[in-house]
Amino acid sequence: MKERITPHLQRLIARGSTAIREQFKKKRGYVDRSDFDDDPLGEETRYSPVKGLVHKFGNRVLFKVSYRCAAHCRFCTRFRQIGTSDGDLSTEEMHKCMAYIAEHGEIDDVILSGGDPLYTPRDTKVILEELAKIPHVKVIRIGTRFPVHSPDSFKSKLVKDLLHAVRIVAKKKVMFVSIHVNHPDELAPNVIRAIRLIEKTRAILVCQTVFLKGVNNGVAVLEDLFKKLYHLRIRPYYIYHCDKAKGISRYVCSLKQERRIMTELRKRLSGLAYPMHVVDIPQGRGKVPVPLDFWNGNSRKVVDFDGTVVKI
Ligand code: SF4
Repeated sequence: MKERITPHLQRLIARGSTAIREQFKKKRGYVDRSDFDDDPLGEETRYSPVKGLVHKFGNRVLFKVSYRCAAHCRFCTRFRQIGTSDGDLSTEEMHKCMAYIAEHGEIDDVILSGGDPLYTPRDTKVILEELAKIPHVKVIRIGTRFPVHSPDSFKSKLVKDLLHAVRIVAKKKVMFVSIHVNHPDELAPNVIRAIRLIEKTRAILVCQTVFLKGVNNGVAVLEDLFKKLYHLRIRPYYIYHCDKAKGISRYVCSLKQERRIMTELRKRLSGLAYPMHVVDIPQGRGKVPVPLDFWNGNSRKVVDFDGTVVKI
């Protein structure tokens, strides 16, 4: 994956944000672990009925709009694809995706992903408008990191037009916008202004985060992040154990450390500010919640927030 960093992120790096630097700059002399997979979630090999779609779970389908993003996160699960034209969909391929969804009445929830759907606003607008016509599609979610990568692009006409389309579709369908944020440094003032524009569409805002070694694997930094998101009316939804994709092993934290952090955070944060910690099981078996350290084996004993063992 080529290094690609927007002027906005360059400014944050120049001001001294090591968290941003770690996520976007190539590391000199870095050698990746060789046993990680190119396609750890089995998206290409097992679950793609037509180009652009991943259909793993009965009622939900992932719609990959492209493999293009404003900036390239060096921990991306789709490391080998991001920034290439491999995921670009022709008009015919887009129609095939729509036909598949229209023919599968069990699909009520479509997740637009990529790449970043907001980076290709023209295509995403068309997809959104077509999905809005399918009666059994009740929920549409857009996963994006565009406000974090390129907040000033929200002034462009194409992005404004897309947000207008989201607003219209949100009157007919349940719309979610899931913003990917990993560190409080990412919530710069212009990013918050961009988020406010998304909020005006009336889409429900949630956040997804990835545990990243050297970026956010500490209690204080995540407490700060989740509180800030909560105060911005963004519900922290998932925090992922980093996928084991080829090229990104430097970011993978130990699950033991992640559990310790999440257990401590559970004591400090409201349930509404606290995301579910999950591991996306290799080869597409789903997002499995990681247990916290409050349960004492299979016994009916739990460890209370203050460390007291309580029988229930
Ligand atoms: S925005 Fe998402 S899809 Fe794009 S490089 Fe970053 S993690 Fe990957």
